[in-house]
Amino acid sequence: MRLVGLTGSIGSGKSTVAGFLRERGVPVLDADALAREGAEVFKGEICRMFPEACRSGEVDRRALGALVFADMEARRRLEGLLHPYVRARLREETERARAEGVPLLVQEIPLLFEAGREREFDGVLVVAAPEDQRRRRVVARGLSEAEFEARDRAQLPQEEKLRRATWVIWNEADLETLRARVAAWLEEALK
Ligand code: ATP
Repeated sequence: MRLVGLTGSIGSGKSTVAGFLRERGVPVLDADALAREGAEVFKGEICRMFPEACRSGEVDRRALGALVFADMEARRRLEGLLHPYVRARLREETERARAEGVPLLVQEIPLLFEAGREREFDGVLVVAAPEDQRRRRVVARGLSEAEFEARDRAQLPQEEKLRRATWVIWNEADLETLRARVAAWLEEALK
């Protein structure tokens, strides 16, 4: 089984590419979704650690995100709880796919390079788009420009991700173009 990491800067189109891969039958594991699953599993611990990010025992993900984004120490504590969970779930789902004889499995991990994980993969696919387009797409989804800037600056610069990529898919055009590029990449990757 070939194992591919999927990453890219904020608003580049990672999740859209993941959706196009799934359309073509490629299983994609989503680290963000597993982190959300972990936040549900550990909501008791999270609400004890960060009572200001909870209401009636439920985690307010937006409040939690803002809190840990502003406080490095809080972020480390949350990651200490969620990262081992996400890793274990990724491992479990990867082994399940391997046992099923899946030829290609993709793991979508927004901070793949930042976490130093590129060596775990046969290759890393980076989705990229010009910064102004990434900003516009993310702002259209409800983030402020200041939030976009802060989050983008907290990550490895896109140029560095491009340097470390095995493959790059540019997403500066429309969605149909992106869908076609994903199909072309898949043909290459399955060769
Ligand atoms: P994040 O880092 O915030 O999780 P992402 O890299 O997963 O983002 P997506 O969620 O796939 O990016 O895309 C961001 C937004 O831009 C989405 O609302 C998506 O529908 C839209 N979008 C992505 N690509 C295009 C495109 N080529 N044309 C128009 N809209 C697009």
